[in-house]
Amino acid sequence: MAQALPGRARVVVIGGGVGGASVAFHLVERGERDVLLLERAELTSGSTFHSAGLVGQLRSDPALTTMNGWSVELYRRLEETEHAPGWVESGSLRLASSPARLEEISRQAGWAQRSGLPLELISADEAAELFPLMSAHGVLGAAYTPTDGQVDPARLCYALAALARAGGATIAQQTRVVGIDTLLSSGGLSGTEIDLAIAALTAATDSATVTPSTSSIVERAARVRSSPIMPSRISTGNSR
Ligand SMILES: Cc1cc2nc3c(=O)[nH]c(=O)nc-3n(C[C@H](O)[C@H](O)[C@H](O)COP(=O)(O)OP(=O)(O)OC[C@H]3O[C@@H](n4cnc5c(N)ncnc54)[C@H](O)[C@@H]3O)c2cc1C
Repeated sequence: MAQALPGRARVVVIGGGVGGASVAFHLVERGERDVLLLERAELTSGSTFHSAGLVGQLRSDPALTTMNGWSVELYRRLEETEHAPGWVESGSLRLASSPARLEEISRQAGWAQRSGLPLELISADEAAELFPLMSAHGVLGAAYTPTDGQVDPARLCYALAALARAGGATIAQQTRVVGIDTLLSSGGLSGTEIDLAIAALTAATDSATVTPSTSSIVERAARVRSSPIMPSRISTGNSR
């Protein structure tokens, strides 16, 4: 639902998919209260809505694997609350039907174990026992990760947004960001502070609202509003 925006926020998150909702949630969880999330349509209306919600933790990048491990811990935690995202810890199978693929998942298994993931190598028959609908024909082996699973992406997104909101964040839907201006502090390029002025269109007023992230809101808002670029963008930003 469209709503009036606060005049400023220390942190502005653009996009109310699972990514933006998660950023807002984690900021609030770490004590940041001045968070504003802007979503041009409704929460989950982007690719999150289309996601199958499969959660496989093993990634080619150790940082991503660690993040996905953290996600699983979070989903378990949320599942015990009123904001349950529908987490089902079904486990996952990676099948190998060629020697090269078998070698690949063997390497992955060693690497996963070093990352603390409980991924184990199993035989084709063991895989078929775990997932009787599959045919083991031609399968040489499999990697089994018991802590992988599936989550309902929309419920997860709404859960994270609700928790962020409960912790003080403002979630503004029907609010499309139409421009971002970088405002350097008086130190210029050598300054340490960079502020962003964000122009957004709300469905309620169909007008620009500027939300600089720090102080000097009046001058900065005025600078953005009087900029020859921003009003023209704003006037064409009505369509979604
Ligand atoms: C068919 C399909 C299946 C998938 N299956 C899986 C899966 O099984 N497992 C998995 O991990 N991933 C899966 N994914 C990928 C997953 O859905 C995405 O990685 C994830 O949803 C990305 O979330 P996001 O928040 O970054 O983006 P989005 O969900 O797209 O959110 C971006 C949001 O930003 C908003 N926005 C855009 N521009 C503006 C603006 N100017 N102002 C304000 N708001 C704006 C949009 O409206 C949107 O709501 C799948 C994706 C698809 C399409």
